Amino acid sequence: MNDTLYIVVPCYNEEEVLPETSKRLKAKVEALKGAGKIGPDSRILFVNDGSRDRTWEIISALHRADPVFSGVDLSRNRGHQNALLAGLMTAKDRCDMAISMDADLQDDIDAVDAMVDKFHEGCDIVYGVRSSRKKDTFFKRFTAEGFYRLMNFLGAETVFNHADYRLLSRRALEGLEQFREVNLFLRGIVPMIGYTSATVEYERGERFAGESKYPLKKMLSFAMEGITSLSVKPIRYITGLGFLVFLVSILMLIYSIIRWAMGETILGWASLICSVWAIGGLILLSLGVIGEYIGKIYLETKERPRFLIREVLDGEDKKD
Ligand code: UDP
Ligand code: MG
Repeated sequence: MNDTLYIVVPCYNEEEVLPETSKRLKAKVEALKGAGKIGPDSRILFVNDGSRDRTWEIISALHRADPVFSGVDLSRNRGHQNALLAGLMTAKDRCDMAISMDADLQDDIDAVDAMVDKFHEGCDIVYGVRSSRKKDTFFKRFTAEGFYRLMNFLGAETVFNHADYRLLSRRALEGLEQFREVNLFLRGIVPMIGYTSATVEYERGERFAGESKYPLKKMLSFAMEGITSLSVKPIRYITGLGFLVFLVSILMLIYSIIRWAMGETILGWASLICSVWAIGGLILLSLGVIGEYIGKIYLETKERPRFLIREVLDGEDKKD
């Protein structure tokens, strides 16, 4: 079969893992080519997300040494999701299918075989799903799984325990291109593309070198981003909450009128001050959530580019 595969790998300060990653990925691509599952033009596309270390130099050197390696250099750091999109959009016109994965190969690359098989069976989207997280720290596992549950609870449909390890056919990539949002959360958008999909299970390993680029602070903002860019449920909950508070205040009013009619004066300083704080807190929280959405609208209306590309290295006819 002659279907071209592009493996898209976003890289941010990954000089420590790239030599090993490139070796393993190359072996994988050669094996697949040998088995006749993918075409001879298949490649590994590294996206340099404005790294501050030698990442781009390593990618260029890999490309010079072997055209199986391609590279995209972004104009600056745009974050994992945008870097991934830049890679996928670069691959779109050059491949029949693209698989995205992290540079640290925490996601077992042997699942690639099964993904490619599913593609040949006619699937447009194949999700890599973690069968277990034994190797992750308890904290990472707990926060990550809680994140998927919260997302689904708040109305953002995502595939449980699926990160950004997936295969997309050219048709699915063309579909993805039409989602123009700036607040990018690929895990939520990909299921909206539709077409035939399948899942492939794998075990998630440890990062073999370097350190995680997703500290807790980034994970929290990623979760917030995911929820607010996919769902308006939080705003709806606020409306419900407002209604509830209003009901409570009516009950309180009735209660105080009855007490007054019975001739008892109300002392209640404590209850008064408590409710002032409670209501004040709720109002601030609600304003914050609404503000978050307004901020999103503001950013979307600007239609800023999601990434800018400094240079693309691809194919034998080098453009450098
Ligand atoms: N990454 C990126 N831009 C960023 C942060 C991360 O391209 O601003 C890449 C990083 O190089 C890696 C992937 O995103 O290939 C996932 O990052 P990491 O492995 O640190 O996340 P974790 O597995 O700890 O969630
Ligand atoms: Mg990782």
